[in-house]
Amino acid sequence: MTTVALKDVTKVFADGTIAVDSVNLDVNDGEFMVLLGPSGCGKSTVLRMVAGLEEPSSGAILLDGELANDLPPRDRRIAMVFQDFALYPHMTVGDNIAFPLRLSGVEPAPRGERVNDVASALGIGDVLARKPSQLSGGQRQRVAMGRAIVRRPGLFLMDEPLSNLDSGLRAELRAEISGLVRELGVSTIYVTHDQAEALTMADRVAIMRKGVLQDVGTPTQVYGRPATLYVAAFLGSPRMNLLEASVYVHLDRYVTLTLGEQALYLPWDDIRSRAVAHYHGERIVVGMRAEALSPVAPDAPGHVLQGRIRYLEHHGHESLAFLDIGATAIVVDELGGPARGQNQPGSRLRRFGHAVQRLTGRATVPNQSDQARETVRPGARTSVLNDPGRHHRRPAELAVRLAPYPAVAAGHPLAISVRMDALHFFDERGDRIDVGWR
Ligand code: ATP
Repeated sequence: MTTVALKDVTKVFADGTIAVDSVNLDVNDGEFMVLLGPSGCGKSTVLRMVAGLEEPSSGAILLDGELANDLPPRDRRIAMVFQDFALYPHMTVGDNIAFPLRLSGVEPAPRGERVNDVASALGIGDVLARKPSQLSGGQRQRVAMGRAIVRRPGLFLMDEPLSNLDSGLRAELRAEISGLVRELGVSTIYVTHDQAEALTMADRVAIMRKGVLQDVGTPTQVYGRPATLYVAAFLGSPRMNLLEASVYVHLDRYVTLTLGEQALYLPWDDIRSRAVAHYHGERIVVGMRAEALSPVAPDAPGHVLQGRIRYLEHHGHESLAFLDIGATAIVVDELGGPARGQNQPGSRLRRFGHAVQRLTGRATVPNQSDQARETVRPGARTSVLNDPGRHHRRPAELAVRLAPYPAVAAGHPLAISVRMDALHFFDERGDRIDVGWR
């Protein structure tokens, strides 16, 4: 099936909007690649350029290794499925699916056979005689998929195909789509702003922000070792706790990471301590996912932080405690939709606090750059000091997972043990501090 390569692809629209900025990306034969990012980050523009519906301003698009910049869309062996797929209302389901085959002159007998095969693979074989108005949203989406599949394309391009459906149906269809596409072995580029969709469906995920590719990797790689602070903050629910830490090296013994009044100690024999030690006397960002934190007795040994519960969120299968540990959090802006913990009354207060901070000019010191890591886009890094307003600080509220409806309440003290091997470190430009690449 078709392979895709984007080489330094940039798209600048007539009004000067840089929608896609020097993107390099390969989609392998049969691979399910998900383009993930918030609204307006350039995902659809990438897809439309691959489809031939937009022309790149610069760079090259290769299909099966051949330059395709000037190839007309109809010659690209591509099938597209959109969020606002349009079925022909006056045609039956069967005729809708058969339509592309009729256009390309396939005889009625093989046409009927292919429509039946596709419809039964999609579980809509029993509604072939119905009109689209007689279908549920999920069935209509399956018909749109069927119409794309029936042409046996070399490449599927899917632009948020599930976003108009309710969450239950979305979960069901995403398993179906990824199963079906893998069975067919067709290379796929799938655009979404939904991280759950990306992490569950993708072979690899490419995360974009403001036209710039931030990270590319398997779901495990981008979640487990995010290349930038932005990716770290974007993926995961609840979002990764990102804390400002000062680094002090006690040579040959340990590295102290000071978080407000408290500290964590990275032993010298931890392979990452040498990389972090380069920042002696400086501030870095320490990332901790909720799964790296567990409640313990206040006097428990090991790497323990003491905090006080600001508020609790109950999610049925678990509760989340948000702890004040006297540290400073780094907030990465422009992450898209709210994650858990973002819709609480506390968040509204926080927004009010931010407004006050903006007015008073306090606590708005920019801290981290959000530019792409050098491995993704050379030369794209900017010191945060020249890049104000993207990230800001606020008192940290550390998200910690607890058992459902725990016996603690807001205001109670809570000690948490920190899994040091699960910490992430980022420099002031937002790039991962690490001891090597994946
Ligand atoms: P969404 O998820 O909301 O569809 P997206 O990540 O797919 O967003 P694009 O549609 O690719 O984003 O748009 C990227 C940027 O380019 C946005 O700032 C958008 O406003 C801008 N843009 C898109 N099409 C045009 C156009 N024809 N002229 C000018 N700017 C455009």
